[in-house]
Amino acid sequence: MDISHTHSDNKTASASHCPLCDSQQIEPLSNRNREGTPLRTVICLDCGLVWSDPFPHDPRAFYENEYRLAYKSSYQPKAKHVYRAGQVALTRHQKIKPLIRSPQTLLDVGVGGGEFAYLMKALGHAVSGIEPNLGYANYAKTQYDLNLQIGFLQDAQFADNSFDVITIWHVLEHTEDPLQVLSKLGSWLKPQGTLVVEVPNIEAVCQSPKSTFHDAHLFNFNLASLSKMAERAGLSTQQHLLSADGGNLTVFFNKADSAITASDWHLPGNAEMIKQIVLNHTPFRHYSSLAPYLRFARRVFRNIGEFKATRTSKDNKSLLDTLYSQILKSV
Ligand SMILES: [Zn+2]
Repeated sequence: MDISHTHSDNKTASASHCPLCDSQQIEPLSNRNREGTPLRTVICLDCGLVWSDPFPHDPRAFYENEYRLAYKSSYQPKAKHVYRAGQVALTRHQKIKPLIRSPQTLLDVGVGGGEFAYLMKALGHAVSGIEPNLGYANYAKTQYDLNLQIGFLQDAQFADNSFDVITIWHVLEHTEDPLQVLSKLGSWLKPQGTLVVEVPNIEAVCQSPKSTFHDAHLFNFNLASLSKMAERAGLSTQQHLLSADGGNLTVFFNKADSAITASDWHLPGNAEMIKQIVLNHTPFRHYSSLAPYLRFARRVFRNIGEFKATRTSKDNKSLLDTLYSQILKSV
């Protein structure tokens, strides 16, 4: 299959109108990615949605290439990465704990190495997952006996009203049509179900200003723009969480009771606020603040913790079993 032809339409998906509010009032916000190479990032002046225009790569072909690479060599993550992902899985569980007091049907979109899905399964939930990377998906299936669909979320098949909870952690910003993705996830939710979306927060200033824009992140959201897009997809915002450093935004959505109609999807003032934050986040201000030094110290402690924990474990699964043992005992 010639991917370059099959996917040629996707590259032009980033049109000159805003994918959230349809406005044509768009202006450049940045012209460099975190590696310092050209990446044109624009902002819609009517709603504040930020995206790469044009897309720096054909999204599906990009992940399909990764997928092919993974197919050639069987994927085996290093113990320290499994340990790190296991810790992230525990914090994700903490975030959704109020939703899952009793056993639930749960879909995790983009399971990666399977650490979060495995934790949720071990806690007694009926877990399904989607993962486009064949290497990761096969690894997660074999190690943790997970029920996975291998492929892109856009092609995945589930019946309407299937899940109590759907989680999509750091995936939406990579997709070429996040409005369509949100609407698809909404259709798979049960009427009283909850969709949990976590994305990097465009208002964050914890990272180096040079690292704000990334080729892999086609879209950048704040709470207002993500909520508005979800609303257009037939969802309503229940609540949100912000990580301690402000870098990650987690939003909980339900199905809207009735279709929301709006005369427009604009968000007055949002673009101006985001522009202020992004343009004021200069290297001088960043390195004059405590943030980069705290970040460095946290990394050092993390590496020491990882070294200690991974030194004694016999394999990746038993590493997670040890890490999860406290929480599994408490249920
Ligand atoms: Zn817009």
